[in-house]
Amino acid sequence: MEPYKTVCDKCGRKTWYETEQQCHCNFPDNDGTPDTTRCTGTLKIIDYSALDSRFTRFYDADERVEVVWKDGYEDYTGYGCRTDGKKARFYVGKSTGWKPVYLQILQKNSTGGAAILSSAVESVRGLGIYRR
Ligand SMILES: [Zn+2]
Repeated sequence: MEPYKTVCDKCGRKTWYETEQQCHCNFPDNDGTPDTTRCTGTLKIIDYSALDSRFTRFYDADERVEVVWKDGYEDYTGYGCRTDGKKARFYVGKSTGWKPVYLQILQKNSTGGAAILSSAVESVRGLGIYRR
């Protein structure tokens, strides 16, 4: 499972600190001197509750999945994502930030995708890991 407890809302650094506090990161100044500037972000406690555990092992294994949507979802337009009717196939990605969600990654080299709406997922199965 995820070992990290907090994530900076400014620089995105994840830490094991368990309470909300100022970020401890230091960055080099842009003026070429060895001085550093402290990150002004806040370490936010990461909320993993939105991660659907049904997708965790596929995310970890980098395995493509096929999801069967619950009735009605395939007709729903407005999620900002493409649904191929009753089923959809995609890789599982994960968003950043203090409340990550799993994402539908349509192409292996995509950098982002639509969030997986857990409540619309009827079932999920792995499609195997492709080697190229
Ligand atoms: Zn920071």
